[in-house]
Amino acid sequence: MATLSPARKQYLEFKQQFPDAILMYQVGDFFETFDEDAYITARELQIVRTTRTYSRGKERVPLAGIPKHALENYVGKLIHRGYKVVVCEQVGEVGKGRDVVERAVTRILTAGTLSEPNLLPVRQNNYLVAIATGRVQTALAAVDVSTGEFMVTWFAPDELPVALDAELQRLAPVECLLVEGTPKEDYQFPANNVTITHCPPYFYQEEAAYQRLCRQFGVQSLESYGCEGQPQAIAAAGAIVAYLEKMNGSLLSLLTALHSYSTNQFMVLDAHTQRNLELLQGTRSGTLQGSLLAVLDRTITPMGARLLRRTLTQPLLDLNILNGRLESIEELYESPAIRTRFTMSLQELGDLERVSGRIRQGTAVRNEVLGLRDYLAELPTLRDLLQSCESDLLLEIAEDLDPCPQVRDLINQALLRPDEEGDEGDEGRMIRPGYHAELDELFNSIRDSRRWMISLEARERQRTGIKALKVGFNKVFGYYIEVSNANLKLVPSDYMRKQTLVNAERFITPELKEHESLILSAVERIEEMERSIYADVLRQIAVYYPRLMTSAAAVARIDVLLSLAEVAAHQGYVRPTLEQGQRLQIVGGRHPVVEYTLNGDVFIPNDTNLEAASAERILLLTGPNMAGKSTYLRQVALITLLAQIGSFVPARKAQIGLVDRIFTRVGAEDDIASGKSTFMVEMEETATILHHATSHSLIILDEIGRGTSTYDGLAIARAVVEHLHDEVRARTLFATHYHELAALAAQLGHLHVYTVAINEDDPNGIVFLHRVVPGCAERSFGVHVAKLAGMPPSIVQRAETVLSQLEANQTATIVPDQRSLTRATCVAESNGYYHPQSASNREEPAPALYWQTETARGIAEAV
Ligand code: ADP
Repeated sequence: MATLSPARKQYLEFKQQFPDAILMYQVGDFFETFDEDAYITARELQIVRTTRTYSRGKERVPLAGIPKHALENYVGKLIHRGYKVVVCEQVGEVGKGRDVVERAVTRILTAGTLSEPNLLPVRQNNYLVAIATGRVQTALAAVDVSTGEFMVTWFAPDELPVALDAELQRLAPVECLLVEGTPKEDYQFPANNVTITHCPPYFYQEEAAYQRLCRQFGVQSLESYGCEGQPQAIAAAGAIVAYLEKMNGSLLSLLTALHSYSTNQFMVLDAHTQRNLELLQGTRSGTLQGSLLAVLDRTITPMGARLLRRTLTQPLLDLNILNGRLESIEELYESPAIRTRFTMSLQELGDLERVSGRIRQGTAVRNEVLGLRDYLAELPTLRDLLQSCESDLLLEIAEDLDPCPQVRDLINQALLRPDEEGDEGDEGRMIRPGYHAELDELFNSIRDSRRWMISLEARERQRTGIKALKVGFNKVFGYYIEVSNANLKLVPSDYMRKQTLVNAERFITPELKEHESLILSAVERIEEMERSIYADVLRQIAVYYPRLMTSAAAVARIDVLLSLAEVAAHQGYVRPTLEQGQRLQIVGGRHPVVEYTLNGDVFIPNDTNLEAASAERILLLTGPNMAGKSTYLRQVALITLLAQIGSFVPARKAQIGLVDRIFTRVGAEDDIASGKSTFMVEMEETATILHHATSHSLIILDEIGRGTSTYDGLAIARAVVEHLHDEVRARTLFATHYHELAALAAQLGHLHVYTVAINEDDPNGIVFLHRVVPGCAERSFGVHVAKLAGMPPSIVQRAETVLSQLEANQTATIVPDQRSLTRATCVAESNGYYHPQSASNREEPAPALYWQTETARGIAEAV
């Protein structure tokens, strides 16, 4: 360090304190990054990287800089990509007898600790989580510092990793705290750009964490928060508090309680299922597009939007609460006039939740506070509307709306609107006259000087005859009179030259100087006083924080109910009948997202009739590619899920026995990052289902066993179906390419076979009718689909020829790749079982029994 220039040395000293963050270093009008940071910012922000040479020592250092005014925008991008950013600003004045300008770290920004409104997603929570792992328990704590939501849940070892993955998928955290030494790869984060922050072990130490939490909430024990005696839960929540304390103590001000919850309170949706059902994100788009949320979200307020997201991933199991929601949605559904009135009222409301938080943190700007006043002014209207309703839930929400008239009065008395400023030459005035006597006096003391200043231009123009004479102000030189070079000859003798520009000169007069110093010294005091009065106003409003938050939560609830009612009305949904049993009856069901995206085409509704206790327990669906099998399967899952968030459903009629978990095994998702093959992932997902499903679950299986040889695949698929049928007894929908499985219907009394109808007689080729009917598909029509997909005609023709040869000579179709035969298939063959495809006549059940149930069950257990 000794040979370094002072500037470089200063930089390195700062950088040393923040080795894992990007240091944004103010140099005049720029923020610059150096060394490794410069490579990262140049790459991530697409800015030019150069080098800087320091005078002494001749070091050449990589450099990439951004203009000061664009800081927030660029920092936002870096944080979004998972980086931490430290902002280091110049705090001393340039060149005041020092080698280098004094600098200080003014902000440390990470994705999970942001509270700047411009950097936060509006319609989505921004979660920071902490994971704590122990021998008997793993816990996950989560906080949104912009809303004050703070919660914790924990899992027993046998629930892991499925339950933890599911919560991580649901919360989609932007930042995660892990104890030092834990690799990120130990956990499945839904987004790649999650920021991982390693914390020292003492953050997680139970005893200290317990004390820290008690101190935070001002309590003696954590009993009332439901996590007393849960060591890892306390450790995880405690780590969050320790981290926020370290980052920025004011972030803790919103954390007034800790909510303990169990994921078993809700319908369980594992991470795969959340993705497969495309609840919050379309898999193809990777964004909201194509997701269920995109169809359902007609919320108006930001907190309503955030609540809808949470609601969608936490379907309920409580019949009473669900019926309460359904009843209120029905009331709204039936009256378009009421819906319109609610909509108009909600449109007057902004982010009550986050504004209240920023007021409590003391960071809200005046416009936000004025916004709060307008939102509060709207609440009585909203409350009247709710009180005019009949359903219990809407009346209950009305109770929670508190317009806090005291807050409104206070804001009205204390703050000036920007459009009210400047009447008396006091531009920039924030505090309303009459609110604070001392401040008013200060304003009065300079009023004459200000008026004098305002009228100066006109007076001097007249006196000098210079029409273009201007009076102006700038921060460095203060007030001045500006005369262009052409008019300099007219300048009177009492003008004193102050500054020379290219085309003009700037002057002052003794009188101007006098008024100026009066104004400037008063202005400084006024600014200081206004700041402190303003901070005091925020503190006074903050007293009402709990009431404001209750109101914000009530607004969010009505917004979500209204959104669901709007969708129901516009998309033609019906109220489902919910019950405790194991029935799943849907008449004229539709896929909410597919029907929404079919441009002008009509969605063909289909029925479903499952009953876990008897009759049809398993629905086996065969049919060609593109016929609509996946759509049908997902539609049943989505209708069930919608019903259990208390929404109407896309159907003509639906009767649904509450489902404790929805499992899906849909499509093939290669997990390249973890080095697992598609088949391995598929088997893992299937194993999860077999281990966790109960007779109250709903299971959706699409194409099991496709990732391996025909024999293996068929063997596994069959074993799984038998196990589900005999042991699990859950309502199951199973789409398969193995038409041979259809023969199982003869052995399994509760399995019924359906297919998606097609019309083969159409002169233009095969027409998919998208109708689910009893029976089994005859053929796959894969070649037809290949043609539709634009395969070259020569290939299609050749494929058709090969296919007809294969069909003529069945054995040719089954020459399996001997190397891929596993133990199971070898056993099967050595026992003299048929190859599946040789069972040519599918109407005939008997020969299709390829091997005994016992063998298959053995495989199921092995899985
Ligand atoms: P499969 O799983 O059988 O290959 P998909 O379920 O992916 O078929 O459906 C293929 C396409 O057919 C869908 O993208 C959709 O456009 C259309 N489709 C499916 N079901 C229906 C339906 N019930 N009504 C109208 N179009 C449908």
